[in-house]
Amino acid sequence: MADPKGFLKVKREASKHRPVCERVKDYTEVILPRRDKEIRDQSSRCMDCGTPFCHWGCPVGNYIPEWNDLVFQGHWKRAFELLDATNNLPEITGRVCPAPCEYSCVLGINDDPVTIRENELAIIEHAFKKGLIKARPPKERTKKTVAVVGSGPAGLSCAAQLNKAGHKVVVFERDERIGGILRYGIPEFKLEKWVLDRRIKLLKKEGIEFKTGVNIGTDYATSKLNKEFDAISLTGGSREPRDLKIEGRDLKGINFAMDYLCQSNRKLEGQDIPKGEVIDAKGKKVVIIGGGDTGADCVGTAHRQGATCIVQIELLERPPECRADHQPWPLYPMLLKTSTSHEEGGERHWSVLTKRFIGEGGSVKKLSCVNVEFTEGDKNGCPVMREVPDSEFEIEADLVILAIGFVHPEHKGLLDKLGLEFDPRGNVKTGEDYMTSKKGIFAGGDMRRGQSLIVWAISEGRKVAHHIDKYLMGSTNLPNI
Ligand SMILES: Cc1cc2nc3c(=O)[nH]c(=O)nc-3n(C[C@H](O)[C@H](O)[C@H](O)COP(=O)(O)OP(=O)(O)OC[C@H]3O[C@@H](n4cnc5c(N)ncnc54)[C@H](O)[C@@H]3O)c2cc1C
Ligand code: SF4
Repeated sequence: MADPKGFLKVKREASKHRPVCERVKDYTEVILPRRDKEIRDQSSRCMDCGTPFCHWGCPVGNYIPEWNDLVFQGHWKRAFELLDATNNLPEITGRVCPAPCEYSCVLGINDDPVTIRENELAIIEHAFKKGLIKARPPKERTKKTVAVVGSGPAGLSCAAQLNKAGHKVVVFERDERIGGILRYGIPEFKLEKWVLDRRIKLLKKEGIEFKTGVNIGTDYATSKLNKEFDAISLTGGSREPRDLKIEGRDLKGINFAMDYLCQSNRKLEGQDIPKGEVIDAKGKKVVIIGGGDTGADCVGTAHRQGATCIVQIELLERPPECRADHQPWPLYPMLLKTSTSHEEGGERHWSVLTKRFIGEGGSVKKLSCVNVEFTEGDKNGCPVMREVPDSEFEIEADLVILAIGFVHPEHKGLLDKLGLEFDPRGNVKTGEDYMTSKKGIFAGGDMRRGQSLIVWAISEGRKVAHHIDKYLMGSTNLPNI
């Protein structure tokens, strides 16, 4: 145990953020790195619980109490080895995971939870700084080949695990660069892209081959893939955006969040965007529809592009600031989240339904909205929404971003050509062994579970690798977590 009285002596201290006035002028990461001493103090708060609920709350099963103790004792190398055993991308989750483990931390019952995510980040960055992380190609190769389609966190974790088992892995990515949403969705101010490049360099050195600009099912026949590889892993994400098909939707200036965020990230990587396709908030009144994390990323991006006014609206009611009775500890609760982007300015409104977009000269100018309220559930237990009488109002907007989620993976192209079965939500259906309706074709990450979290994508990528290895070799040493 780190320090038997640590949690009594030390209060939780979260990482500091760069000042708002400074950070909105650039895209550098908002969070300031911590000193080793601060991390050691924070890890001393871990009580090394008999039943560590943090472990239960972590989809990849990180050895949290163990590495908290090791960090406190100054055994950074051993802490890194334990972290590396369960998570292929801790430098990513350490930065942007919403940390379900912290919501299950036992200390969180009557105090603030341990800073688990920040401790994770400190361990992995310490390991990189001290040169503890080296490419470890497998000693023997199996002569089996696996195609991984999609290079997001699920694809990268799956590829890393299968390569470790000695298989020849080729990752196909339709974008021009590797990373999926880590590269093109999440803004630089949350995750600088050199972090991703550093990991990809390592994976390449370990023997994984990456082929970018290849859209499987469109410019590379699925039959060819079937013929050339012993197994296929589908980790293509879930990118079919939910639309808001109301009057005025065709007006210019209304865009999907991923189109906006992808373009912003591409611009920062030095790509030229054709003039007619530019989506920029500079000097504009921006309305973001959707109160989730993607919407918050759009808020932060619009601040940096120089929007004159930013309003984020959400259909659902304002979430509570403390746990509701129906989401007791150790469950992951729906709470009001104030992200670093919200700290930077803009307005947020809840219980707002957008009825129509109003235009002028073919471009959006206003949103016509109404307040709504939710009453007791219907006979199926679903809350019923009703418009509040006489609550109609308008919001001015030159740029509208739709950040209302994703329905399921894109069916057109790859999935239709493979003729795979879908689950009732339109995601790729698999058995418990992650195999799809076609033998030798497996699926994981958002493509299988729907739009989720990075840590779930990593967990699924690892599980797919476990099952592919077993399928190819008859047995496996790869963990099934
Ligand atoms: C804007 C945004 C911000 C987010 N922020 C966070 C966050 O801060 N923390 C968090 O935990 N989660 C976050 N998420 C969720 C998280 O990013 C996803 O759950 C995760 O990236 C899913 O990983 P994946 O590998 O399954 O898919 P993706 O990351 O979507 O990667 C799939 C890849 O497959 C490629 N692909 C698809 N089809 C083909 C094909 N036919 N041929 C070749 N390549 C193909 C795609 O181009 C893409 O690169 C965010 C999501 C969004 C949209
Ligand atoms: S639940 Fe919290 S206090 Fe207990 S072992 Fe995990 S991190 Fe430590």
